[in-house]
Amino acid sequence: MSQSNILKDHLPENTHWRKIAPHAFATSLFNPDQCDRILEAIENQGASLSGNYGQPNSMQDYGIVLEDENLSKWAGALVDKALKRTVINLFSGLPHYKFCDHHAFLTVYGNEGNRDLSLHVDASHLTLNICLHNDARGAELVFTGSRCQSHVDDVSDRPPIVFTFDRGDALLHLGSQRHFVTEIESGCRKNLVIWYRLDKERIDQTNDWIKVQCPACHRFT
Ligand SMILES: [Zn+2]
Repeated sequence: MSQSNILKDHLPENTHWRKIAPHAFATSLFNPDQCDRILEAIENQGASLSGNYGQPNSMQDYGIVLEDENLSKWAGALVDKALKRTVINLFSGLPHYKFCDHHAFLTVYGNEGNRDLSLHVDASHLTLNICLHNDARGAELVFTGSRCQSHVDDVSDRPPIVFTFDRGDALLHLGSQRHFVTEIESGCRKNLVIWYRLDKERIDQTNDWIKVQCPACHRFT
């Protein structure tokens, strides 16, 4: 089936997003057929990338960047158009909702992919993370809250929140929410991750609208 059909698919309306962690929400967004078509389109985009797993960002060794123009536009429009109302409802603390840029990539965990991912914050203001394939054991996503700039790399001091993806599940979370991926034990998981950036906002913990009290030092900076 052609890629253009996916791009025209309407997302389910009135989807219920459940809160799974501070500033992190989950829902079942795509059906299995849609997941297969999206994955096929990503894995078969531009001939130069076909079948190859490259390095999608500085932290991950295996993945595919969405370089096809139509596919990249579709990824940008997911939050900027299709999920705009959802984003406004779920993230009322954002300073505005004008997204100026996005970076989309398929991340792969498995024998021929990443084994895990260490604790980090995203280079985004908002992240959409969609599971397109999962027969893995392990490779679970763990949220550990936010910290100030000085303590952003500290290990968690409270019970972490573990999220296990089913195919079609989508997460929306602030990029400032620290997270990591546990080691994969078997199988394979493939997720489409899209980092969205707000116009004229810095990508760090110093934005006023991101600041919360740091559990490590109790400061707001
Ligand atoms: Zn601190």
